This record gives sequence, C-alpha cells and structure tokens, in this order.
Amino acid sequence: MIFWNFEQGRRDVEARRQSHDAIGKAERVDERVSELEESLDQLSLICRGMWNLLQRTSGLAEEDLRAELERLEAIELGTNTSKTCLACQRANSRRRNKCLYCGTALPGENAFDRV
Ligand SMILES: [Zn+2]
Repeated sequence: MIFWNFEQGRRDVEARRQSHDAIGKAERVDERVSELEESLDQLSLICRGMWNLLQRTSGLAEEDLRAELERLEAIELGTNTSKTCLACQRANSRRRNKCLYCGTALPGENAFDRV
C-alpha cells in the first residue's frame, strides 16, 4: 500500500510537470504566432504601399495585378512542388527555405523563394 502511494505520488508529480511544460510551450507558440501576425501585417502594409506607388508612377491598374497573380499561380500549380535537399536528398515542399528533416538551407530559384 505504501509503495502504491509512493508510485501514485511520483506519477502525480510527473503529470503536473508535463502539464506545466505543455502550458509553457503553448504560451511560447502563442507569442510566436503573435510575432508572425505582426510581421505579416507589416509586410502586407509594405506591399500595399509599393503597389500604390507603382500604380501612380506606372499607370498599371488593379486588373494588371490580378492578371499577374493569376499567371504566377498557374506557374506554381504547373511546376514541380518539391525541392530536394542537397544534404539528405529528401523531398521538401517548394515553399520551404530549410530542409524539414535536417535543417539545411534549400536552394532557392529567385529572391522571393527566401520569403
Ligand atoms: Zn535535408
């Protein structure tokens, strides 16, 4: 009986520790998501500002931007959707900058592949 109580107490302590760790991890993920949302908002604002400047100086219209986005989406859909890691030879999503498996930087095709 004493052994059972000791074992049960040990499990309770371990469960509380795991619960505390999980809460800490959830809080860090929540902070990171907030940081990423702020970055996304900032990038969105910069894109809108750049587009406004481009419209004013070039005469391009909203239809031109939409047509270009459709063209880029068609290219994305039509191309190979994976990149092979040069270090471990595994396939990764084309949108990844680092290998999912080993963390090695993946080759980029142009400047926007790094975003
Ligand atoms: Zn790799």
